Amino acid sequence: MLKIILSIAAATSLFLVLNGCESATGDESQNAKKERSMTTNDKTEAHGTASRDHHVRLTEAEWRKRLTPEQFRVCREKGTERAFTGKFNDHKADGTYVCVACGNPLFESNHKFNSGTGWPSFWKPLSDDSVETVTDTSHGMRRTEVTCNSCDSHLGHVFNDGPKPTGLRYCINSVALDIVEGNE
Ligand SMILES: [Zn+2]
Repeated sequence: MLKIILSIAAATSLFLVLNGCESATGDESQNAKKERSMTTNDKTEAHGTASRDHHVRLTEAEWRKRLTPEQFRVCREKGTERAFTGKFNDHKADGTYVCVACGNPLFESNHKFNSGTGWPSFWKPLSDDSVETVTDTSHGMRRTEVTCNSCDSHLGHVFNDGPKPTGLRYCINSVALDIVEGNE
């Protein structure tokens, strides 16, 4: 029985990773449900970068307490919100977007653009220290995950089809963000 559960866990993780930020399907909520019903202690090792200096380190139970179920699913289990459903997709206010999990400043509103994808998109992060990118070349695909450099929460993905001057598109889940409004 345990083996079966672990297989479902692996398949679900794979689905969520591959699904990424480019598509949103009806299957996702089903998979997310399965995923939520399991413990995910082993997933904290997913990056294999234990030597990185994370400023915010919490146990899975502490993260669950701090985050809503949807925030936990996206930030800690690398989920993806459905396109055009996030509260910041069409958000126009000036301010600094911060990590919803730890408050780390991530992006500025003046680097936000309308990508038409249904997710808030930025052509650069606030600083090089704001986010970390993790290249995933498994399964014959090359995708670049974007995580918070302070707490390692999953934020979204970055693609090479963004506007000038960087040509980058940071495709970020609204649910992983909060905003501190106002001009800095
Ligand atoms: Zn964070």
